Amino acid sequence: MPIIKITDLNLSNKRVLIRSDLNVPIQNKKIISYARINASLPTIKLALKNNAKVIVASHLGRPKEGFYDSELSLFPIFKYFQEIFKKYKVYFCKNYLNGIETKSGELTILENVRFNKGEKNNNKHLSKTYANLCDIFVMDAFGSLHRNESSTYGLSKYSKIACSGLLLESELTALKKIIKKPIRPMITIVGGAKVSTKFNLLKSLAKISDTLIVGGGIANTFIAIDNNVGKSLYEPNFIHQAKLLRDNYNIFIPIDSKVSTTFNENSIGITKKVSDIDMNEEIMDFGENTITKMLPILQQAKTILWNGPIGVFEFKNFRKGTTALAQTIANSNAFSVAGGGDTLSVIEILNITSKISYISTGGGSFLKFLEQEEFPIIKLLERFI
Ligand code: AMP
Repeated sequence: MPIIKITDLNLSNKRVLIRSDLNVPIQNKKIISYARINASLPTIKLALKNNAKVIVASHLGRPKEGFYDSELSLFPIFKYFQEIFKKYKVYFCKNYLNGIETKSGELTILENVRFNKGEKNNNKHLSKTYANLCDIFVMDAFGSLHRNESSTYGLSKYSKIACSGLLLESELTALKKIIKKPIRPMITIVGGAKVSTKFNLLKSLAKISDTLIVGGGIANTFIAIDNNVGKSLYEPNFIHQAKLLRDNYNIFIPIDSKVSTTFNENSIGITKKVSDIDMNEEIMDFGENTITKMLPILQQAKTILWNGPIGVFEFKNFRKGTTALAQTIANSNAFSVAGGGDTLSVIEILNITSKISYISTGGGSFLKFLEQEEFPIIKLLERFI
């Protein structure tokens, strides 16, 4: 079923609340990747140009609900918006739950919605409080589409009218096209640290892919089926599921790893076979033999889907695997699709944006979309048509 688009509505003088996904990596209050913010700008621009009273809401990181955490404030993002929208008045609002003053053609950025108690478990009262802030709700946070929280699901449910923003619309259109008939072989890579969220999606991804390459904490969980993984990030509760997947699908699992006894920027690390990892060691990246074995698989792919770095990319000594992966995808003739916050940072840092066929702002939502599940938020948006 179709949904109402922002371009279908008259926005002038209306209070328009846009839920964007501005969850970008920030270190020492500095934005590391602008990709998600920049992808959100067209919808905000459109609302401002149409003389709406524009309010933008987003989450950032995982703060403890009900508490303010200056490290996870949206203030640095507000400062960036001030630079971008020089022609407009841009405000930052910390306390907005009792209502806010807004004027046509002006922009207000709300503080991190995850500081509000009830946001994550979709509290009805909080959702209604948000809904009272606006006349029109615009869902544009593709990256948050798989999470039913108050500022996404709740707002879609309780707003007088809700529609899709430009980003959500273009993501849905592009991804639908991609998964319809992939050219084979199709290789999917899933890495990163959100092991439990991603694990449940692996079966569907393994089913639709010719090979599923696992990295990061997910790979560590596969390694842990038969080996000791020391202090590594992994999910013991998923080992059984990992074994079932390994025994039934074509899963590429690392054979060696770069390990370290300390988790920090200056750790050097050594390469070890996955069977030789000690209790005080932690897997930080793929080892050289694993990288060598992975590259030909990627080189013969015709479709590549990628989500999540395969090692601790932020530390210079542990980015070899992710860099080799990213560069091979960039040099490949395959149709390549990449998604996820950290994946976007890798692509930005390596300056290969133009070499990836389609870049999605979604991480979990991108994977969930590939699983071809219906999103409850989309179901809610459909009822307005
Ligand atoms: P995600 O948001 O799930 O894509 O996770 C991205 C994060 O995964 C990045 O911050 C990486 O540093 C982290 N990561 C990747 N591999 C590992 C690993 N072996 N151990 C710990 N963290 C990892």
